[in-house]
Amino acid sequence: MKLLEYEAKDIFKKYGIPVAEGLVVKKTDDPGINVCNLGDEVVIKAQVDVGGRGKAGGVVICSAGEAQDRIREMFVRDIKGIPVETILVEEKLPITDEYYVSITLDRSKKAPVILFSAEGGVDIEETAKKNPDALRRVRVSPMLDDIPDFMMREMLRDSPKELSAVVKSLYRVFCKSDATLAEINPLVTTEKGVYAADAKIIVDDNALNRQGISVNRDLTERERLAEELGFSYVELEGSIGVIGNGAGLTMSTLDMIEYYGGKAANFLDVGGGADRARVCSAVKLVAGMEGVEVIVVNLLGGITRCDEVAAGIVEAGVPQKVVVRLAGTNEAEGKRILSEKGYQMLDSMEEVVKFAVGEVA
Ligand code: GDP
Ligand code: MN
Repeated sequence: MKLLEYEAKDIFKKYGIPVAEGLVVKKTDDPGINVCNLGDEVVIKAQVDVGGRGKAGGVVICSAGEAQDRIREMFVRDIKGIPVETILVEEKLPITDEYYVSITLDRSKKAPVILFSAEGGVDIEETAKKNPDALRRVRVSPMLDDIPDFMMREMLRDSPKELSAVVKSLYRVFCKSDATLAEINPLVTTEKGVYAADAKIIVDDNALNRQGISVNRDLTERERLAEELGFSYVELEGSIGVIGNGAGLTMSTLDMIEYYGGKAANFLDVGGGADRARVCSAVKLVAGMEGVEVIVVNLLGGITRCDEVAAGIVEAGVPQKVVVRLAGTNEAEGKRILSEKGYQMLDSMEEVVKFAVGEVA
């Protein structure tokens, strides 16, 4: 789950990473907020989870006198379609230089990797494309809980060595927050020292409980419901709903849909031994997503019984066409139940996928 800038900065503070003095303002707060103690000039920052927020008008620098008007304006507009509910007002830092640092996982090497650039700021994506050498990569052994000095020197080269302490602290943030990404862009130098002018943390969804986060804000309502019901469920952008049992079968169904030129709207793994009630709620859940035109059910009956599955599909009675491939335990009975109610039941995965892709073409 992605943390907002002010939440990530709260964590930074705990780990000794300097951030600007700031105030968090909610839309529902008293609009007569006093920002005078932040200095003559302030930065008004929309707390929305979008890339390129500054360029989209989500970061405004103004005098303390103008701040109230700018805050009011920011609350009534949206940034790239996302309404602004929270604003962070900060003292304006007198920035001399902007750097980029992020820590993420290099999955192929099974190790954290630090990315650093002396050309930080809002154009980092451009820099990464046009001048990839400007982005330095240093892999850290997962056995280390601190970054050794020689690595820091290799990474920073002629950039100020004062940045080192922040990068080291960011590494602790990354580890202790169960983060899949911890990023500072820009990491800035000022006459008063080094600061994290922006902050981004993505917490591993599997670690939310340990991090004391009870609700995953990044999930849609349906994804949250699926989680409560114990289904693995993910929403995508196409028009074919997918239900399978087991991650392997479900993923290969997705691949095959892609192969035949279709696009999945979502996919749900009902897991092993799903009974009628579970199948029924799975079908309803998948069908309930906007844009689902046809549903592919691809299940292998082992401990899952095909007759139970068939009964669950019939019970769900969703308006979309449901094409089914069932094989295994009680297959004949399952087939009978489905065909009695007019459901398409085909013998192979390839056939159901082709049928579904043909339906939406
Ligand atoms: P983003 O667009 O969401 O990445 O927003 P940032 O928080 O990174 O801000 C975008 C840009 O605004 C930064 O790269 C800085 O150039 C500028 N900026 C942000 N905060 C300050 C500040 O305190 N002082 C100054 N001078 N510039 C700032
Ligand atoms: Mn930024």
